[in-house]
Amino acid sequence: MAMRITEECINCGACIDECPNMAIVGEDKHPDGEDLHYIFPDKCDECGGTSPACVDVCPSDAIVK
Ligand code: SF4
Repeated sequence: MAMRITEECINCGACIDECPNMAIVGEDKHPDGEDLHYIFPDKCDECGGTSPACVDVCPSDAIVK
């Protein structure tokens, strides 16, 4: 399973550096061209079942399961 970024994302960039798996890219690299940050599901392991680092840092509560 992987975390997912929703349309609540304001592209602040805070989550990118927090991800230990380097699974997150900015809106300029979103594979579907959406104006959101993006989590590559094949890289995200939900931080091994702990509270995911990106969720803790997101100011918009934009990251969900
Ligand atoms: S921390 Fe939240 S609002 Fe900021 S870029 Fe990441 S998903 Fe978007």
